[in-house]
Amino acid sequence: MSWRVPLCDLNFDDAEREAVLRVLASKWLSMGPETEAFEREMAEGLGVAHAVAVTNGTAALHLALLAAGIRPGDAVAQPAVNFVAAANMTLAVGAVPVFVDAESPGAPWIDPEALARAFRERPGRIKAVVVMHYGGYACRMVELRGLCEREGAVLIEDACHGIGGQALDAEGRAIPLGTWGLAGCFSFFSNKNMATGEGGMLVCASEDLAHKARALRSHGMTTLTWDRHRGHASGYDVAAHGFNYRIDELRAALGREQWKKLPAANEARRERTRSYLARLQPLNARGWRFVGQDDRVLDQSSAHLLAAVAPDAETRDRAAQVLAEKGIQTSRHYPFLPDFTAFHGSVGPDALPHARAFCECVLTLPLYPGLSEQAIDEMARELL
Ligand SMILES: *Cc1c(COP(=O)(O)O)cnc(C)c1O
Repeated sequence: MSWRVPLCDLNFDDAEREAVLRVLASKWLSMGPETEAFEREMAEGLGVAHAVAVTNGTAALHLALLAAGIRPGDAVAQPAVNFVAAANMTLAVGAVPVFVDAESPGAPWIDPEALARAFRERPGRIKAVVVMHYGGYACRMVELRGLCEREGAVLIEDACHGIGGQALDAEGRAIPLGTWGLAGCFSFFSNKNMATGEGGMLVCASEDLAHKARALRSHGMTTLTWDRHRGHASGYDVAAHGFNYRIDELRAALGREQWKKLPAANEARRERTRSYLARLQPLNARGWRFVGQDDRVLDQSSAHLLAAVAPDAETRDRAAQVLAEKGIQTSRHYPFLPDFTAFHGSVGPDALPHARAFCECVLTLPLYPGLSEQAIDEMARELL
């Protein structure tokens, strides 16, 4: 089935085509100069010391947890409203995910008060907190970072929605999402604000963390094929049990073009979000809410998702059906994670009421830089 109005769309033009052709002409396809430039440009733009490009956002999360020293048996607190990658990678390092409730049924972000309770209930066990900037809107970072510092847990940002977004610190400075904690993880999957097909980036201030992540990205080897090709190294040692999480030059070249376009692309997303919010406002009186509508500062967000929260699951399902009949694609970000078969039993039946209620009522509407005003008008007419 092909949708007349898809949920997301690529923001590609001749720049991406030429970037890929440039790499093909160079005849160097695996990690090399494009990747180095991509890492340097993103690190500079984000104002962070290190950027490590990887094969996808999930790999970035895996490397962040490993390089942060998370060990078998440790607990890793994380939001229940999230894509499954952070929970899977927690299990991959032998640790235990502790799902934390959302702020409210209309606000999916990890709740600082619920996190504080999780720390109290498991003294000394939670070694890391993975936060996720749902929809591109920042979590309550000042409180969350303060809590992690007090409890001695490392803070990792699953910033896959938040690239190009910011949040204010206690002094009122705008700090890029992904640079608040020990490590930030980005994804360049096709439906993200920056798309390379598959791709990801880990960013951090710590030289030690970057060094570990770089080694684990490439089998734990001490030199790269690219270094040996240039005569900078001849042999190698294997100093850790690593993986092959390398990105390739085609994707790195795509990523460099997407990074250049990101400020304008995010502004286009914010403009379309403003149009949606203005047109859908009458739905508030019928119990609908929109993520980013209230206290979340739209101007600082990366506006990754337009998430509508229906008054109940039935209304949500009916709205999805009405739009589907018009060829308009919608989705649900996300199903309640502990309901997945692989996570059965991870929380009690009445646990996490805010997260569960959000997941039962959320409907994500199309949002991308090229989405037309007419399409937004049409969706509003169908929903009102
Ligand atoms: C996309 C996404 C991931 C996973 O990224 P991949 O590049 O697909 O591995 C993880 N977390 C969140 C919140 C995401 O949106």
